[in-house]
Amino acid sequence: MQLHCLGAGREVGRSCFLLETDQRVLFDYGLKIFNYGSSKENMYPVPYQGSIDAMFLSHAHLDHSGFLPELYSRGHVNWFATPPTYDIAALLWEDSMKIMGENIPYTEQQYQKALKNHVPVLYGQSVTLGQTKFKFYDAGHIIGSAMIEAKYKGKKIVYSGDFKMEDTRMHKGAEAIEDVDVLILESTYSNREHPDRDENEDKLADLVSDTLDDEGTVLFPSFAVGRSQELISILHENVKDIQIYLDGMSKEVTRTYLKYGEYLRDFDEFEKSLESVIFVEGARDRKDATTTPSVIVSTAGMMEGGPALSYMLNLNPASRLIFTGYCVEGTNGWRIQKENKVMIDKNILDVSLPVSYFDFSAHAGRSDLLKFVKAANPGKIVLNHGDRTPEFAQELKEMGFNAVAPKNGDSIDI
Ligand SMILES: [Zn+2]
Ligand SMILES: [Zn+2]
Repeated sequence: MQLHCLGAGREVGRSCFLLETDQRVLFDYGLKIFNYGSSKENMYPVPYQGSIDAMFLSHAHLDHSGFLPELYSRGHVNWFATPPTYDIAALLWEDSMKIMGENIPYTEQQYQKALKNHVPVLYGQSVTLGQTKFKFYDAGHIIGSAMIEAKYKGKKIVYSGDFKMEDTRMHKGAEAIEDVDVLILESTYSNREHPDRDENEDKLADLVSDTLDDEGTVLFPSFAVGRSQELISILHENVKDIQIYLDGMSKEVTRTYLKYGEYLRDFDEFEKSLESVIFVEGARDRKDATTTPSVIVSTAGMMEGGPALSYMLNLNPASRLIFTGYCVEGTNGWRIQKENKVMIDKNILDVSLPVSYFDFSAHAGRSDLLKFVKAANPGKIVLNHGDRTPEFAQELKEMGFNAVAPKNGDSIDI
């Protein structure tokens, strides 16, 4: 058996592995979107030789799904994912086509073919192709997110995708998988722990309440998938009489969350939290959002496009910006947090509003990564989706594990 690292090797973005058993299958096929100063090729997975028998998608985030429609430049292939992953990936692709215009790496036709060739898989369900048996497990990362297991000739290979072991408001944490031979492991937070969630929620609630008391507005530039819904749930639970304006892609994604209640930890609680939410539909709502003490949750999470940027320009001086997600260097989200500056139409403007950051990550922190590794007790660990995979591989070796940190384009015998 061979494993080829085609993306997310020693980086975050454009996740992709090719596994060869008696089948040739892809795990994820993502884009590296905010890759400033780099060539277009560095946005896509490394090209592969030969045909593909099937494609398995761990979850809808574009760094895992964004290149998938391009598969249909070559002909027919089925791709397997949970039903919510399908719905949300379709939404994100449609949005990408609007935003990227001519720069999108696939055609409308390829996008349509991708929609037609999806095969739904549920958690715990097996899919057998040739002599290889695949199975999906709940990854606890976003709605429908999955870890994918492949069994072939008595060997068990697990692709973790993005995962979280700790419960969040939206999802139950991922369960450990035992007796793994080869573990392909995301390692976004290989050297960091996340703060205690309850304490973090309390601190956030205090800051939001104080800002509202001062007649300010709190703007959360937020990722559409996962983070926006988590924030709504946290704020509804912790801040009394809160009014939340929800805008951008987050609205459509939130409606999809309602469609798949069985994928949430507590559907009733989430549905109830939406009583605090106004889905922004026009200029009138937007004006209300910035002129009354309220909370705005809006895309884009990195302030690249989406309504969040124009909201920021219309806030009163008692207002505040709160980031809760990772911002890639060179994006407006990064610039605002590092330099209190923002770039609009190539002009650099000062941002005088106070800016805060809270960690509500949907990824496993270091100790949970290690907990997962110990339970899996794998013969080999293949690290991806991290900025310091060689260092983490070394640390795992010192703990007695066989770990490697492939670069994009590397092949591994397993
Ligand atoms: Zn993700
Ligand atoms: Zn990811």
